Parts: sequence; C-alpha cells; structure tokens
Amino acid sequence: MPKKYIFVTGGVVSSLGKGIASASIGRILESRGLKVNLIKCDPYINVDAGTMNPFQHGEVYVTDDGAETDLDLGHYERFTSVTLTSSNNITTGKIYHSVITKERRGDYLGSTVQVIPHITDEIKSFIKMASSHKKFDIVIVEIGGTVGDIEGLPFLEAIRQLKIDLGRKNAINIHMSLVPFIKAASELKTKPTQHSVGKLREIGIQPDIILCRTELPLSKKIREKIGLFCNVGPQAVVQAIDVKEIYEIPLIFRQEGLDNIIADKLYLRCKDKGLDDWQRKVVEPALYPKKETVIAVVGKYIELQDAYKSIYEALRHGGFSNSARIVIKRVDSEDIEKKGVEELLSGVGGVLVPGGFGTRGIEGKISAIRFARVNGIPFFGICLGMQLAAIEFSRNVLGLRDAHSTEFTRKTKNPVIFLLPSQRAKKNLGATMRLGLYPCRLKKETKAHAAYGRELIHERHRHRYEFNNKYKKLFGNSGVLFSGIYPKRNLVEIMELRNHPWFLASQFHPEFKSRPDRAHPLFREFIKASIAKYESKTA
Ligand code: GLN
Repeated sequence: MPKKYIFVTGGVVSSLGKGIASASIGRILESRGLKVNLIKCDPYINVDAGTMNPFQHGEVYVTDDGAETDLDLGHYERFTSVTLTSSNNITTGKIYHSVITKERRGDYLGSTVQVIPHITDEIKSFIKMASSHKKFDIVIVEIGGTVGDIEGLPFLEAIRQLKIDLGRKNAINIHMSLVPFIKAASELKTKPTQHSVGKLREIGIQPDIILCRTELPLSKKIREKIGLFCNVGPQAVVQAIDVKEIYEIPLIFRQEGLDNIIADKLYLRCKDKGLDDWQRKVVEPALYPKKETVIAVVGKYIELQDAYKSIYEALRHGGFSNSARIVIKRVDSEDIEKKGVEELLSGVGGVLVPGGFGTRGIEGKISAIRFARVNGIPFFGICLGMQLAAIEFSRNVLGLRDAHSTEFTRKTKNPVIFLLPSQRAKKNLGATMRLGLYPCRLKKETKAHAAYGRELIHERHRHRYEFNNKYKKLFGNSGVLFSGIYPKRNLVEIMELRNHPWFLASQFHPEFKSRPDRAHPLFREFIKASIAKYESKTA
C-alpha cells in the first residue's frame, strides 16, 4: 500500500481543537491497525517554540531528541503511540532558515529565490522527509492557523501541490470548521463553513471531509446543506460535538464512522482492533471516578489554560490510574506572596511546583514548598520546582539563609543551584539548554525506585541550571535522599525527603512522557499519596 496522507486545515476561528482532532484521527486510525505519524506545520517565523512566551503560546513541548515544539505535539503523543522528533514540527522559521542557508551556499545556481517554488518545495521536502520511514502507513499533517491567514499561504500551496503529486487515492484534506449556534435565531449556522471552504477552494484545495465543531448535533438537513455548498457528499460532513472529556473524542469519531469514511476515501486496507482498552483505561475512569483529591499547582502562568498543559494532563492520567477525579487548584505564586500560604493551600491533598524561568513569583513557590514539607502534604517539584525545593531546604533546614540559584542572583554565598562551567560560555538563548532525553540511575529503596520499579530510566529535560554537588553531603546528612543521578556527569536528577509521606522533586520533566492509558509512575504515585492525604483530612 503506498503511503497515505491526510492534511488537516482549519477555518472560521482558531482554538477549534484542531490539534486534538488530528490526534484523535491518529488514534482511530491506529485502532484500525495502521501505523500513523503526525506532523505539525506552524506558520510562525520563530525557528522553534523554545523562545516563545507561554503567555502567548502555551507550553513548550519537549521531545525525546530535545526539540522544543508546539504543544500540539503533546496531544499527538498522548493520544497515539507515536514518539515524535524535531522533524515532526515544521515552522516557517525552519523553512526559511534552510532556504536562505542554501541560497548563501549557492545551491540555487543564479535563480531568483521565490516563495513559489522554492519555499513551497522546501515545505514539501520537509513533509516528505518527516514521513519517509517505511513503517508508517499514514501521515497526518496539521496546518496551524486558520485558512485566510497570510503566513499560512505557502503551506496551503504546498499541500495543494502535494495532493496532486500524490494522487487522489493517496491524499485527502480534512477541513475543520465551526458551525455556531445563534441563540437569537435558535439555529445552527452553516455560512461560516461555506465561506471558509470557499476560501480554500480559491487557492485550489477542495476538502474531502468537513469536520464541524458544534455545540449541538447536526441534523441530516444541515449536513446536506453543508455538503451541497461545500461540494462534498453529506456522509463526508462529520460532526465534532463539544465534549467535556477530550479523551472521549476518538470514541465519538468512531461512532460517527470517521474511520470508515477516511478508509473509503484513501482506499485503505485495514483491520479493526477497536478502542476497548482506551475505553476501559482512560474514558471510564475519567467519566466515573471513585475517589477525589485536590492538587494545588503553584506557578506564574496560572490564568492561562495551556501554559502547563502536559502537567495538567499528567495529573489527570495519575487520576485515571487511581480511579480518582483530580481537582486542580491553580494558585498564582504571587498571590501566595500577597495573601499568605495558609489561605491558599490549606486543605489540598498535594502541591505541585512546575518548571519556570525568571524571578517573578519564586518566593511564593518557596513558601508553598515549605508549607508542604512541614505539614506532610505530598509534594512534587519539577525542574524549577526541584531547584526551589533545594533552596527552601537550604534556607529553612540547613540555615543557609541566603541560599539561592545563580539564575536569580549572583551575590549569594550559597549558590545551591548554579550553572556548570560548560554552560557559562553560551550566549544565545535558543536551543542552548540541557534538552531532551538523558539517562538517570535510581537508588534502590527510594520512592523513585518504588515508583518506576527499575534502576535505569530516561527522561526529558529543558533547563540550564543544576544542583551544586558541593552541598550534597550537607543535604544528605539532614534527611535528603538523592535518589536519581545522571551517571555520566554525576548530576542530581531527583531529590526526595526521608521523613515525609511523599516529597519528591525531579530536574527532568516527567509530564512529557505521561500517557492517559499509561500514567507516568511519578504522577501515579504522587496522586496516590495525595488521595490518602486528602481522604485523611476530609474523613
Ligand atoms: N530556569 C531553570 C533552569 O534553566 C528551570 C527551567 C525549567 O524549569 N524548565 O534551569
């Protein structure tokens, strides 16, 4: 079977959930026994998402190979069995960088370098390169942004050409659109969808399937109308109805028969493995939890839905594996500085301090860590969360009152967190951190080892600063266990407390490897301890 392609575009408005829809399409195709790969094209000019502010763009998702990517890649990895790499995220920045490098090298032999064909050819070859492995049967390529955006045009032109190059049986376009319910008229409206498909057709792309985001079910009449105006059969008008639980979407798409429609259009030969496992391990515990706990996430990007996306999802996965509903209490660390920690954290089952950069709000996070430590509340620190746990312990247990990280002050006499000499020379901010997968050896008879059940693990990183080994002995003598070490450079990867129900902090980011049907072991155990704490309080 030749390799098949699905190009996913979006119309009308952004935030339609195109990333989750693409990921769910990946999942239903896997349920039909197909090997799937997913690519995200981002029309912005940044080379990667590494330098982008989470306030604007949500979290930076890190892959095994250390690429700093768009958060949609997180959805792809959570919904399907793929492991993505830097080539799965194609940005305008990457494309232009490559074309300009070739031009400077003289590769274009005197020709005028233009958007068409040079930029579009580069996009096509990046897409082909990312999907070239022969193990993939089908490649889903999501184009970020909305049809009509100026910066998206070269990508749309590239997929228009690719559809022709590959042939009708091997490439389709799924266009996701919004069918709004207008209260005053008490009606679902199809006009925005007609317009956005019109816009696509203007540039030469005829969608094959229209995926309609809607609050209410689409009647047969509406489907026929959309089909008629958008030049597709009514069976190719598929509803993507609003749901509370995102992990239900693959099941809903299958009920809609989307897998069969795609199989027909792409002449796929496929089996049916079903989604029973997904239903049992993910959807049922999500919809019918038996227990509950409240987790405070103490950060500075709290008001934004997407800034800690993978953390929130990993907490929910920990909930699924413990049959528990997780109530996430988002606490702005600056509010802790203003209102005091008691007011904001009393009564919670667990405290999580996620990663971060910059000084704002760190004292609030340190107070939250102290509160969890002295009150026996399960605590999970991640990256900056681990660094601050080390600072808190130095200040309040070891009596090193000025302990700090050199990220925040150069003046401290006790730099418990610092830059390794090898990091000090780096000037650029882009892609200069310790990034991606590193091995970590776990000590036996620790909480970390008990969670993972093995000695050697590999986890994803995104940071510059490290624990200063000069302080290791002092910490060790006062109840800290360094349960995970990166052997090659003897760097601290995990610290935990001996005399505490569950206090563990990691320099790496476990949230990126958590899956709804396979919760990350540290999240699973943190949630388990937090349920016990929460139940003991409410009993
Ligand atoms: N700012 C810290 C560092 O660079 C932590 C980074 C993070 O939490 N991702 O080391």
